[in-house]
This record gives sequence, structure tokens and C-alpha cells, in this order.
Amino acid sequence: MKKKPSICIVGGGLAGLTNAILLSRAGFSVTLVERKAYPFHKVCGEYVSNEVLPFFRKLGVEPEELGASSISKLMLSSVSGRTLSCPLNLGGFGLSRFKLDYSLYKKALEEGVHFIESAKVNDVWYGGKVFEINIGGSELEADIVIGSFGKRSNLDQRLMRGFFYKRSPYMGVKYFVRGDFLPDTIHLDNFDGGYCGFNKIEEDLFCLCYLTENRHLRTYGSIPAMEQEVLMKNPALKRLFEKAEFVWERPESINEVAFERKSLVDRHILMCGDTAGMIAPLCGNGMAMAIRSAKILSGHIINLCKEGIDETIRVQLEQEYTRSWHREFAFRLKVGRGIQRLFGKPMLSELVLSTMRSVPSAVPALVSMTHGKPF
Ligand SMILES: Cc1cc2nc3c(=O)[nH]c(=O)nc-3n(C[C@H](O)[C@H](O)[C@H](O)COP(=O)(O)OP(=O)(O)OC[C@H]3O[C@@H](n4cnc5c(N)ncnc54)[C@H](O)[C@@H]3O)c2cc1C
Repeated sequence: MKKKPSICIVGGGLAGLTNAILLSRAGFSVTLVERKAYPFHKVCGEYVSNEVLPFFRKLGVEPEELGASSISKLMLSSVSGRTLSCPLNLGGFGLSRFKLDYSLYKKALEEGVHFIESAKVNDVWYGGKVFEINIGGSELEADIVIGSFGKRSNLDQRLMRGFFYKRSPYMGVKYFVRGDFLPDTIHLDNFDGGYCGFNKIEEDLFCLCYLTENRHLRTYGSIPAMEQEVLMKNPALKRLFEKAEFVWERPESINEVAFERKSLVDRHILMCGDTAGMIAPLCGNGMAMAIRSAKILSGHIINLCKEGIDETIRVQLEQEYTRSWHREFAFRLKVGRGIQRLFGKPMLSELVLSTMRSVPSAVPALVSMTHGKPF
């Protein structure tokens, strides 16, 4: 047992790419399978918490060099348009996933990661010693499989993961826009059944991304009609939509965004990023969590498997990763689920906003409960 195990990573978003870079750098043979071809867009608010900065520097990724905006203020509005603004203690940066994921992809290539792009993993099964991975009809073998296939994938269904069978009422919509807006402020505007994030990213672009209950789409029949009838009832959002110059003809959108609890290890596949658990997007911390969870997971693999893997080590790896993951994220996810319930409801969002206005320390306290420390 002297050979480092081979690793297959399913899904190349932030969690998959971070694992790939760290494990390849540590001398493991890594294959990453991604169903799309880089670079590509993703439905995401594109605000990244600064807690990732020290780690990015060590990785050799400089958001500033990629043109990221610097964000230090938060502006909240309730469904009726009442606003509250406050500084963000740690702050963050705005950068498109198109650019961020692509720069990590290039870094992973430099580190020797083998990519299989435009290829979907259909099935993964564990035969007692190695995994067999079915990629669009061909088979690959690996000693360790990392599942970083995002919030919802064909593989969740294939593995019969419980959350997949619960319908989620949420959908996400994203646009790039231009206009004369505050470059250092992230806006979080509530509307009936959802909320919209808005912040500067690279060049002269802003990312406008919202999460809404999909019942509105059924009621109004189209995204523009839903925006007109629901989102723009908040005067702050109406101003934003009217002032913005939309870059794309049609937005990117996704369905079935769920925040249910998920299994962390399933049939010996080690789940990471959103595949392990997704925090409500309004916390603005999902990307940092995906990166952090990959750092934790690859750290355990590097420590335990440098001389190979057998069944005893596999069990130890699964147990240690599970413990570390819960220690780091369980509380944040719980708070995120609670906050998700508060916003998007007209009466509650008014109440929460007026409470926050009278207790200014409440916002930084909530932000710190859903964020981690710089790593
Ligand atoms: C509306 C919305 C707004 C958000 N806004 C923010 C924000 O502003 N800030 C923030 O920090 N977080 C935000 N998030 C959360 C953030 O987007 C996620 O937490 C983050 O993308 C998780 O990264 P990941 O690597 O786990 O998954 P992903 O980035 O989703 O990557 C998963 C990858 O797996 C691939 N894949 C899936 N199935 C297969 C398969 N079978 N075979 C091969 N490849 C496969 C996919 O193509 C994808 O590239 C938001 C989320 C939503 C829904």
C-alpha cells in the first residue's frame, strides 16, 4: 500500500476545482469530469466573502488582477421599499463565475489535473475496493470519488438522495447589467416570495440575481411579467430595473433550488460544496463554503491517504471529514435556513427591517453567524 490513490472528481464548480488543484499539487492523480465546457456562466449572485482571500493568495489566484470589484457596504430593502444600509465588517468582492471558475480551471490545468469536459457522469458505484464511474457510456476507475456536482444533479436522482424527491418552491434568475450604480455596495431587495441581490462585478458590469418562489412564474406566465408584477412592487427594485441596461437578451435561470439537509458521504462518495449542503443564497456565503469544504476534504485525503487507501483508512477518512464538516458548517446552514424563512414574506420582512434599524448591531451579528473566519 505505497501508491497514492487515484481520484475522480464529479463536477467542476468551485468545490470540484479547489479539490482538484490541492490534490494534484499534493501528487495525487486527479481526473475531473464536468458536464459543460469552460468557461461558462452560472446562476449565482457573484458576491464572494473576503474570507477566501488568504487561501486564494496561497493558491496563486488574485481576484483583483481578474478585475474583481471591492464591496464594503450592504443595502437592504423590505418588500415595501424601506431601506437600511450598513458597513460589512469583512466585506467581499464581486467577480463573475465565468471568470472565477475559468481562472481556477486554468490553475488546475497547470497543476496537471486531467479534465474530461462536456461529459456527464451518469452513475458511480463502489465495488468493494474501487469505484466504477460511468461517463456518457464509457467507464473510468478510481480509488476515491468526490461528489461536487452542485445543488441538484442527475446523480442525486441516481443515488436516490432523499432531498431530490422533495419539490422545492424556489427558482433562480440572473442577468448582467450596466448602469450608474454604487460600485462598493451589495443590495439585497426583498419582494413577495423572494429577494434580489445586486452588486458590481468586473469591468463595468453588475450582477443582478434573484431567488423567487416559482408559483409567480406559473401565475404570470413569463419572467418579464413576473418581474413587472412581483419584483417591481418593491420601489427600490422598480428603480433598479428601470435604470439598468440589460446586457443579455434572456437571463440564465435554474429551477428547484433546495436548502434541505443532505448526506455527506453516500455509497462512499465524499460530497463537497453544495452537494453536501447549500446555504440560503441571501447569506452570500455559498461560494466561500464550497471552497472551504474542499480545502477541508482535500486536507483529510492528503493526510490519510499519502501511502494509499484500504478499507480502514476509507472509514477513518469518511468519519474525520464528517466531523470537520459539521464543526465548520452545521451551525451556519441552520442559521441560513432560519434567515431564509424571515425574508421574502411581506409582513415579516418589514418587521425584520424595522428591528434591524432600531438595533444596528443586528446586521453584523447575523452576517458573522452565517460566515466563517478568513482561512
Ligand atoms: C440564486 C443564487 C444566488 C447565489 N448567490 C451567491 C452569492 O452571491 N455568493 C455566494 O457566495 N454564493 C451564492 N450562491 C451559492 C453558490 O452559487 C453555490 O454555493 C456555489 O456555486 C457552490 O459551488 P459548487 O462547486 O458546490 O457547485 P457548482 O458551482 O454548482 O458546480 C457544480 C458543477 O457540477 C457540474 N455537474 C453537475 N452534475 C454533473 C454530472 N452528472 N457530471 C458532470 N458534471 C456535473 C455542473 O455543471 C457544475 O459546473 C447563490 C446560489 C443561487 C442559487
